[in-house]
Amino acid sequence: MAFTLPALPYAHDALEPHFDTMTMQIHHGKHHQAYVDNLNKALDGNEHAGKSLEELMAIMSTLPMPVRNNGGGHYNHSLFWQILTPNAGTQASTKLAEAIDAQLGGMDKFKEAFANAGMTRFGSGWAWLCVKADKTLCVCSTPNQDNPLMDLAECPGTPILGMDVWEHAYYLHYQNRRADYISAFWSVVNWDEVSKRYEAAL
Ligand code: MN
Repeated sequence: MAFTLPALPYAHDALEPHFDTMTMQIHHGKHHQAYVDNLNKALDGNEHAGKSLEELMAIMSTLPMPVRNNGGGHYNHSLFWQILTPNAGTQASTKLAEAIDAQLGGMDKFKEAFANAGMTRFGSGWAWLCVKADKTLCVCSTPNQDNPLMDLAECPGTPILGMDVWEHAYYLHYQNRRADYISAFWSVVNWDEVSKRYEAAL
């Protein structure tokens, strides 16, 4: 069963003015589609064809680079579209908010640490909020299309929020201003979805 591109859960222009329409069209329709197509090619006739994305992530250190790059790309973008929303005013659940307060110094400190993880990721990659094996929260970043689910990750965990800091995620609208893109990101985070993923990871 080949992987397919999941539909966006909102229209391409729904995240305006924070994420512009053309970026969303190219990011989803071209970049994400290419990760899906190239993952299918990399797995074609391979013993690992038929495994789920999560199963592939768990043995990534044993798999060839095209599976790592494109499998990571497919997983990361599939999560990314879900944790975004045009609905303003979603909020972290009480349980998640309490964990952020107790473990990460509160929402402001968390946002600062997360933005910093995105800003200091040299080149391309992702910033993450994860639930570690001991069920505590952590903030980290990964290079390229790696993610914390991969067995080779330096910061292993279950990602519940991810931010793409590849230039293709922001360059058309924000050019070199990654910091402006990161501050716009907070306006479109779907805290309902992040909270749901938090509960599921516990
Ligand atoms: Mn991307």
